[in-house]
Amino acid sequence: MESFGVDGESEMLKAIFLPFISPSHLVPVVDIARIFAMYGVDVTILITPANAAVFQSSIDRDSSRGRSIRTHVIKFPQIDGLPEGMENINSSTPRDMTSKIMEGMSILEGKFRQAFRDMKPDFIVSDMFYPWTVDAAAELGIPRLIYVGGTYFAHCAMHSLEQFEPHNKVGSDDESFLLTGLPHELEMTRSQIPIRFRDPNHRMGYVMKTVKESEKKCYGSVFKSFHEFEGVYEEHYKRVTGTKSWNLGPISSWVNQDPSDKAGRGHAKEEEQEGKGREGWLAWLDSKKEESVLYVCFGSMNNFPTSQLVEIAHALEDSGRDFLWVVSNVDEGEAKGFVEEFEKRVRSSNKGYLIWGWAPQLLILEHPAVGAVVTHCGMNTVIESVDAGLPLVTWPMFSEQFFNEKLLVDVLKIGVAVGAKKWRDWNEFDDEVLVKREDIGKAIALLMSGGEESLEIRKRVKALSAAAKKATQVGGSSYNSLKEIIEELKSLKLQKLNRNVA
Ligand code: UDP
Repeated sequence: MESFGVDGESEMLKAIFLPFISPSHLVPVVDIARIFAMYGVDVTILITPANAAVFQSSIDRDSSRGRSIRTHVIKFPQIDGLPEGMENINSSTPRDMTSKIMEGMSILEGKFRQAFRDMKPDFIVSDMFYPWTVDAAAELGIPRLIYVGGTYFAHCAMHSLEQFEPHNKVGSDDESFLLTGLPHELEMTRSQIPIRFRDPNHRMGYVMKTVKESEKKCYGSVFKSFHEFEGVYEEHYKRVTGTKSWNLGPISSWVNQDPSDKAGRGHAKEEEQEGKGREGWLAWLDSKKEESVLYVCFGSMNNFPTSQLVEIAHALEDSGRDFLWVVSNVDEGEAKGFVEEFEKRVRSSNKGYLIWGWAPQLLILEHPAVGAVVTHCGMNTVIESVDAGLPLVTWPMFSEQFFNEKLLVDVLKIGVAVGAKKWRDWNEFDDEVLVKREDIGKAIALLMSGGEESLEIRKRVKALSAAAKKATQVGGSSYNSLKEIIEELKSLKLQKLNRNVA
């Protein structure tokens, strides 16, 4: 492997990575850290014990591959009422525990700052949710790179809302408005955009303002898509924000090339401990025809009410297609009983396979039997699916997912929408059925029909998949971005060394 980060031991670039403690931020930031280590940067990931357990095995494997990478584990503080080991914000985190976890993380700020001082890195890469790191890096005279979750497209759309406020010029939540100033003419409704744009006093408005201010002070940002996927928006983003930015994806396939890395990604411990049916799902997929199976997964943050689970189950069964459904956070009561009954039925008809809890998504997506993905449009899943050449049934729910859907369905034309209309926060799902079985069914039927439209969609996503593969190879767009950023950081380090000598 080429080394961008080393010109002899004395000049090895030293980095600290500080990931946020929810799966969709933790998993990609760890992957990006591992990519830097793959290309000769000395990497330390600062992390708390329960979060380290999620990815430690990948780091150990990288280290045994000769890469200079490690975790530096800092004990999570005791917080009144917070069970020991609860350090991660995901779909199974009780609502009232989220603020306690955040309280713990803010107590840790002092320890993280001390680790920066002790370890003397040449640069820091930290999640967008740690705006204080930009000042901590400045105190040490080193650059901070910010990891920005989401697509460039979504951030361009949000920038348009902040700058032009088209959503404040419509009469109702269901009336469409144009996303002003974007390279494409795209419409949305108020009910589809994050709450902070509709409620000026919402806490997230303040959080995102702080994030954006700290981004402006950073050396630059790193994203995890790839130029061929949303290059127009990558350029637009740099232009409208006036910031430096590098696109380093698809990160998951770049760094997780080995089946053991793919299998354990994001949840290594549980997979190993429970020995969850890898053979089961694999044997089941092996028995299915090429591109015939729908993979249905709604990420790491969703909590559906029973009524919505019923609609999903019926939509899948009524579709007549084979499906592999990842059912998460259905642990008790009516919902569990319903899904267990459903599982028995579809296992006996051999039409469906359910994975309870966490699925080895990267392995599933690359299986030839998988033909499409039903997704909530989480950015990681979007890029992983496109990388695998799979078209998408789009069902956005929260965060920036409705923007991602616009990119997939209206700009790139590689997805079919179920017609979701209402944005909901990840921990605010109530009993309302947001999408009915007929609408889920229609989108599945269109995508899996083999008709002209579905073939065109498939052709487009396969072309993007081919481009994704090239992006991370020598001379590809993301490879070149990585090389550029590391070389810039190296020359900053040399300038600093020379200044100190002079
Ligand atoms: N993931 C997985 N198995 C699961 C659920 C999720 O491996 O059962 C991974 C998935 O590959 C992706 C991440 O977790 O990398 C989820 O991120 P995404 O942005 O798609 O959704 P979020 O969790 O933020 O809603």
